[in-house]
Amino acid sequence: MNLDFKKFSGTGMTSDSSRAKLVSILKEQGIKNKKVLNAINTIPRHIFIDEAIASKAYDNTALPIGKSQTISHPLIVAKMTEILISRNPKRILEIGTGSGYQAAILSLLVDKVYSIERIELLHKKANTIFRKIGFKNIYTKFSDGNEGWKQKSPFDAIIVTAGASEVPSSLIDQLTSRNGVLISPVEKNGKQYLKSIEKNDTIITEKVHGVVNFVPLLQGTEK
Ligand code: SAH
Repeated sequence: MNLDFKKFSGTGMTSDSSRAKLVSILKEQGIKNKKVLNAINTIPRHIFIDEAIASKAYDNTALPIGKSQTISHPLIVAKMTEILISRNPKRILEIGTGSGYQAAILSLLVDKVYSIERIELLHKKANTIFRKIGFKNIYTKFSDGNEGWKQKSPFDAIIVTAGASEVPSSLIDQLTSRNGVLISPVEKNGKQYLKSIEKNDTIITEKVHGVVNFVPLLQGTEK
């Protein structure tokens, strides 16, 4: 893939060195997978947020992307990606395209990324960025991700980047039954936990990876 980041402003040395600093912080915080760290070092996070807050792009924090939504915290992006990538998935489904940053990271690590967003404006914005940079393996859809993307299923991995009290059953159905892995924030007693679900035939194994803070997984679509 021939990616062109130069079409965006501010992609000079400053963001390169800030990105390197972010990568070293992520290492200190326990991210080990070299491919994941490399992807974070390659993808300019500031391209996926508004220019007004671009100076904060490499802070290890979540940031607003409009419509009350946020680009996820880099540590959480790295952690979720690390868990999924350890299973060597080829085709991955993301629920909640948002800014497009997580999909861009994944696109460097797997063959195909399918990503669904329920807010049309964010879906369009992310698509424009994907097209401008030249990502060829990201396929997007404007719809309610609770239903998944049946026509493209089964997926080797599914990443949900918005929290609900339960993982939608259609997503588990669309996971491959051989070593399929899904990761999602799940709410319980007012707290959100990062949960992974592995599927092997009829055996479902669940694991909790700590507390997170994602925007809610909503129903239906909006402009
Ligand atoms: N992965 C994103 C994170 C964005 S925040 C990034 O890297 O920037 C979560 C996103 O999930 C929001 O854009 C929100 O609109 C979207 N979302 C919430 N419920 C959804 C649903 N049912 N289907 C699809 N997207 C949903």
